[in-house]
Amino acid sequence: KAKEAGRARMTCYETAMDAHREERNALELDLRRAIETEELTLVYQPLVDASSCEMTGVEALVRWNRPGHGPISPEIFIPVAETTGLIEALGLFVLRKACEAAQQWPDLRVAVNVSPGQFRNPAFADYVRSVLNSTEIEAGRVTLEITEGYIIQNPERTRQSIERLKMLGVKVALDDFGSGFSSIGYLRQFGFDRIKIDRSLTMNVLEDSRAREMLRATVALARSLDIPVTAEGIEIEEQGRALQNFGCDELQGYFYGKPMPEAEITKRFSIQKAAALDEERGAAA
Ligand code: C2E
Ligand code: MG
Ligand code: MG
Ligand code: MG
Repeated sequence: KAKEAGRARMTCYETAMDAHREERNALELDLRRAIETEELTLVYQPLVDASSCEMTGVEALVRWNRPGHGPISPEIFIPVAETTGLIEALGLFVLRKACEAAQQWPDLRVAVNVSPGQFRNPAFADYVRSVLNSTEIEAGRVTLEITEGYIIQNPERTRQSIERLKMLGVKVALDDFGSGFSSIGYLRQFGFDRIKIDRSLTMNVLEDSRAREMLRATVALARSLDIPVTAEGIEIEEQGRALQNFGCDELQGYFYGKPMPEAEITKRFSIQKAAALDEERGAAA
């Protein structure tokens, strides 16, 4: 009897595995097509100066509206791209698109997420260079965001890759700091130009005194190493104010702007420029 039940469970498990595998294969196939046809799009989320709330940059975030399925989160399809070798084409597409778009927004920084699969590729710096050349964007406006997972696995290679990227003039930021196994010791030694504190920490800044003390200490430490800090996931004004008080110079989150299409950043950028001009004229008069 028990044996039978065991067998039934086994079959059931296998069926679920098959279904899962099939779904993944279909996803991979669709994703491959999406990259080839440029079905993927980018949205941009404002990065704002903590004291003036002016937009100083944007983060490019990839979107995929999968035919017959609707929008799929990058948190689902990026890992698929990683395990199927599609990440290189996807990453190149994102980087090129973001650098092209940024040409409409002189002096805004543009941040682009880089996944471990791209970063691990020895040719990565070469293709970053080719995108910089072909889009003619100033390298210093580009920030590549990498997450800490990969760094911990391969500290030596990470150091070399970062060095090569920095020689091109691009900036390198540590993304999602505080979301996992954060090693503060790595901060300085890898030469990060910025760290971004993960939303899982910042979201609790008002309610949770332990999160608050961790944030305060983390930002203070980064600042003592002269590394500027962005706080992500700010949804209400008070969170932003608290993080500014701790020493974050840059904020990001729904409160300051959700990820939006290129045209909306352009609109926002021109409004901001016009306001700055008005202020200048006002000051002169
Ligand atoms: P991330 O780089 O940490 O990006 C921030 C994520 O938080 C984005 O989710 C953004 O939409 C979301 N977010 C921003 N502000 C708020 C807020 O105030 N509240 C809440 N609840 N969420 C907020 P998204 O766009 O779904 O991206 C998820 C992750 O997928 C990103 O995390 C990044 O790791 C990855 N990703 C996105 N685009 C790309 C890409 O082009 N390449 C690579 N390699 N990874 C990407
Ligand atoms: Mg990011
Ligand atoms: Mg982040
Ligand atoms: Mg995050």
